[in-house]
Amino acid sequence: MTSIGDAWRLARQRIDRLDARLLIEYVSGCSHADLIAHPTRRLSELQVRRLDTLVRRRASGEPLAYLLGSAGFYGREFKVTGDVLVPRPETELLVELALERLRHVAEPVVADLGTGSGALAVTLKCLCPQARVVAVDLSPAALAVARLNASLHRATVRFVEGDWYGPLTDEHFDLIVANPPYVAAADPHLERGGLPFEPRLALTDGVHGGDGLACTRVIVGGAVRHLLPGGWLLIEHGHEHGVAVRHLLHRAGLSEVATWPDLSGSERVSGACLVGGRD
Ligand code: GLN
Repeated sequence: MTSIGDAWRLARQRIDRLDARLLIEYVSGCSHADLIAHPTRRLSELQVRRLDTLVRRRASGEPLAYLLGSAGFYGREFKVTGDVLVPRPETELLVELALERLRHVAEPVVADLGTGSGALAVTLKCLCPQARVVAVDLSPAALAVARLNASLHRATVRFVEGDWYGPLTDEHFDLIVANPPYVAAADPHLERGGLPFEPRLALTDGVHGGDGLACTRVIVGGAVRHLLPGGWLLIEHGHEHGVAVRHLLHRAGLSEVATWPDLSGSERVSGACLVGGRD
């Protein structure tokens, strides 16, 4: 017979406190308070087996979000599977910058390119309900996850399958956001931590040349054709890409080019806007 206390000790031999706690809560259905108040409560054999499997997977580096099936992002829970990147805290910076800009537009039209779990598109729609939001992804499996998240948060988002601007032929936006794959193919980071468990397509542009900027070039390059006058492009990038991304934004003819640091002080999001009339 295994009690919650036994399970806790076993899990702690292999994984850290917070992960152990969250996995035991997940498997047992108990709250944090229950775990503390009732360490002698028994777990069923099935619960013990499930916990053991999850602890092993976590110990091998698989992100906790995949084990729990969800991750928090900007105050909401998002379903995640191995088909989508786990939403990152640094991407919350993109939400804040986006919201600052949406505040000045009555009924903004917004595109999220490479939406993955839909975290950006759904968060923006929830916090700016008057926006019309379209979200694009190449992966049908990712779009299924994003659609589920939109329905869980009652966010009306139009999801379309395709490559960046591919399905948005004649559409123009007040705001384009993107968190594209930007880890360079040769970056050893790809083999560390939880990254080997995440979809390569969402992490690296290895298939396109691999310097981490291939997708960013496409997104910046198409922005002028898809922004409304005064519209903004905000794009997440690697901490080492700030100079290159600002250069791309200038070269594309965009204005007010800027980069913002994430919480750890790394250059993480750059953006620019389209001034003047559209042809
Ligand atoms: N920030 C992620 C990481 O380095 C990468 C996300 C991305 O490529 N869009 O772990």
